[in-house]
Amino acid sequence: MNVPHEMFRSVSIEDLLVKSDKVAHVQVGNNLEHALLVLTKTGYTAVPVLDPHYKLCGLVSTTLILDSILGLERIEFERLEERKVESVMRQDVPRMKVRERMDRALELMINHPFVCVESESGVFEGILTRSLMLKHVQKETILKQLNKK
Ligand code: AMP
Repeated sequence: MNVPHEMFRSVSIEDLLVKSDKVAHVQVGNNLEHALLVLTKTGYTAVPVLDPHYKLCGLVSTTLILDSILGLERIEFERLEERKVESVMRQDVPRMKVRERMDRALELMINHPFVCVESESGVFEGILTRSLMLKHVQKETILKQLNKK
């Protein structure tokens, strides 16, 4: 039996999606100070970077920001204001299209805490998170146990 397939047969990406209007993000052109503020205030380790048309450009994290302003002897906080997110963001984003199978999301989440989801035309639709995936797995496991009784 293909266990992941069985677990996700009844659910689509759209069912588990954190919709884009609920996802904290920054925009290309924002400076690192703004990005650090968003990351600190939300408590997330990384957030998507979007362009004005809501297309996904990359991911920015606290680690990437701090690493980019690390001087020889100190962290050069004054550089936060002058530098833009696109100069430090990661462009190799774990991403999927809305219509793809959940099995692929599960595979990507082994190494990534969240996966970005796009429409067919490349517009950012939201994210799938590890916690919501695990919640779904837990629900399916309980239902399976109850059905056995
Ligand atoms: P979780 O599995 O809920 O711990 O989320 C994993 C990661 O997904 C977080 O550390 C964030 O980087 C990202 N994330 C989760 N929810 C949001 C959100 N609403 N906005 C932006 N990023 C999020």
